Amino acid sequence: MNSSRTIVLLIGFFILSCSSEKQSPESAGSNLSPALRSYQKAQTILNAGIAALGGAEKIKALENISVEYDGLRYMINQSRKPEGPWDKEPSTGKIIIDRKNNRMYNLSSNSYPGIGAFAMSWAIQGREGFHLDALKNHHGTEVMKLSGTETDWPWAASTRWVPPLLLLQAAENNTSLRWIDGYKKHGRAFEAISFVQADKTTLVLIFDSDTHLLEGYETVRDDGVYGDVTDFIRFAEFQDFNGVKLPTKRMDYFNDEIARELSLKISVDSQVDENLFKIPAGYAMPKENANESYTRIKKIGEGVYLDQDMGGIMIVEFKDFIFVMDCPGNFFMSQGTIDAVREAIPNKAIKYVASSHTHGDHAGGARAYFHSGATLLTTPGHVDFYKKLAKINQTIRPDPFASSQKEPVLETFTDKRVITDGEQTVELYNVGPNAHSEELVIAYLPQQKILWQADIFFIPYTGNEVNAAMPITIEFAQKLKALGINEFEQIIDAHHSRVAPAEEFKETLRKGGYDMALQ
Ligand SMILES: [Zn+2]
Repeated sequence: MNSSRTIVLLIGFFILSCSSEKQSPESAGSNLSPALRSYQKAQTILNAGIAALGGAEKIKALENISVEYDGLRYMINQSRKPEGPWDKEPSTGKIIIDRKNNRMYNLSSNSYPGIGAFAMSWAIQGREGFHLDALKNHHGTEVMKLSGTETDWPWAASTRWVPPLLLLQAAENNTSLRWIDGYKKHGRAFEAISFVQADKTTLVLIFDSDTHLLEGYETVRDDGVYGDVTDFIRFAEFQDFNGVKLPTKRMDYFNDEIARELSLKISVDSQVDENLFKIPAGYAMPKENANESYTRIKKIGEGVYLDQDMGGIMIVEFKDFIFVMDCPGNFFMSQGTIDAVREAIPNKAIKYVASSHTHGDHAGGARAYFHSGATLLTTPGHVDFYKKLAKINQTIRPDPFASSQKEPVLETFTDKRVITDGEQTVELYNVGPNAHSEELVIAYLPQQKILWQADIFFIPYTGNEVNAAMPITIEFAQKLKALGINEFEQIIDAHHSRVAPAEEFKETLRKGGYDMALQ
């Protein structure tokens, strides 16, 4: 080989390798697989995003980051009126990611119209931790231990509050990175990439094309009430903390509609309270009922059952048909109830279903009953909601009702509706308006003396400790008295399957300053 040609070739190779190093990696080879090119382009965008927040070295140098948030939620599908205007409710919380000790703490407190705050906390060290109800007004004093993959969600969800750590996480689990071409929002063009977190959430990370700052992230999902939805979390007003940029404002959008506005108070490398990682006094692990065999459809009275897999969904058996109280979640969740009822009580069709109110956790499953041919009993102000629910657009998770061409069958009542065949009786009452919903249906079984309600009285999981009644619970007790419902012996909460004795309800009221016996 001619030596001068070898030198030319070597120089040529040198020039080529220099120039490809100067360029971004995605241009390294035009014959690369499109998937690999997409990955490489995403990696370049991510690297620029990490640099814009201070760089990996400075981010990794932080021992801990704490985010305290405070603001308002716009209660989409959780307001007093089914179509709004949406009530606004306080939303506060605290996230600590302690990188030095490989642990995290997340306290999230969200209020709902008329029923106050639900404050849930997660404390995880490595792959072990616990979850509890900090206000003891929902699960009561029960603490849930979490381990292994059960900790994926709290870790992933908490990291979503801290952009520099979220980007580091994307870089460390980088094989799922992909570039998204042509991302535009509100008329602005952004650089966008996607990646999958440990809890299997696929995030689309959106960066400002000029500054490379993380604008926010977006997810898509199926929702029982709205069908296809997007959640967009936008970060703003970044400030410098030890050389790392962190946002001091956060806005959440649901289908491009504002859903939450928060101020974020950031601190880095501060003292972490060790007590947050210890189970507080007064909390206990749930009791194991090893001797009690579990059946999904559990009998609680003559012809009365609960679907325990779905909380306190009540099933009432008549001579020739079945009535179901409440249809939560989405088509598939309520179809689960329908299938379980068919198995437990064959040869009788579900003729009626009633939903307490239009919030998704009570009404989103109505489509399964529309599909099965049951008649939905509801109050006049909720009819439009169910007509819309029957027509939602689903491409992510289409349910069988979507393609069935069936129309929902609705019957309305204003104050009271009685279903009876002479032997079995269910009385439905509209106990609204109240601070939770303008119309709210409860069920009373006069023979069995069972009272069923949703979101007016929360029964703690354990019953070891009774909460003081909320104002809405006291108002409910007064309403019951006015309706002449004084004799009930058991009370059910739509959200779980522990049936409480009436005495527990009365004790709650007494703690809240209202004595039923004295009224
Ligand atoms: Zn509700």
